[in-house]
Formats: sequence, C-alpha cells, structure tokens
Amino acid sequence: MTRNARLILDIINQSNDHLTADALYLKMKEEGNHISLATVYNNLNKLCDQGLVRRVSVEGQPDRYDHTEKHDHLVCSRCGKLTDYRFPDLTAILHEQSGVDILSYDLQVRYLCPECRAREKETKK
Ligand SMILES: [Zn+2]
Ligand SMILES: [Zn+2]
Repeated sequence: MTRNARLILDIINQSNDHLTADALYLKMKEEGNHISLATVYNNLNKLCDQGLVRRVSVEGQPDRYDHTEKHDHLVCSRCGKLTDYRFPDLTAILHEQSGVDILSYDLQVRYLCPECRAREKETKK
C-alpha cells in the first residue's frame, strides 16, 4: 500500500463524518500532504476494490467514504446527512423470504435529522 493510500485509510477509519473525496482531499492538504484530487480518487477506488473502504452512494449526492465495520445508515431526506445505526442483522430474514443466499445488503433508512426537524417546526410557526 502506498503512503497516500495508508493516510487516506487512516483518515477514514478515524472519522465518523462520512467524508467525500473533496473533503478527504482538503484534509490531506491541511495535514501538509502534497496530493492531487485525482490521486485521492484513484486511491479511494483502489481501497474500495480491496474492500478496505466502503463507498456510500446516495442519489443526488457525491459519494461518501466510510469504514467497513458492519453498520446501517439513517439518511436525512432534507440535508443528506448520514448517521450510523446498527439495525439487527436482516440476512436470515432476507434469505428466508427470497430463498437465495444473501452475500450482503445495503440498508438506507430515510428520515428527517433532528436539525432539519427543528428547522421544519420553526418555519411552520
Ligand atoms: Zn437533515
Ligand atoms: Zn457509516
């Protein structure tokens, strides 16, 4: 693994912020690394291919990058913020219902995050 790949992996593993490639690029530069955005993308693609980083795609938003420890996501419909959540494992239920062997599944639960919910209440007053 290259030094850049290792640094990017470390940032992702130490963060709970679901960073975009742009945000990772800025973080790398802040920490004094000379790197281009294209290199960040290349490394992210490799890390995802190797299964070391999880790519989280939400429609209409830039991809975000996450650590690979198993967890699900609550997605705010308004601002797109991702919040980690651990729902009970559904593999057995999905297998039972579908009759196929489940390799993996992606669960994205839509909701309004507390900030957006508060803002909604404000504007309705
Ligand atoms: Zn929100
Ligand atoms: Zn996550």
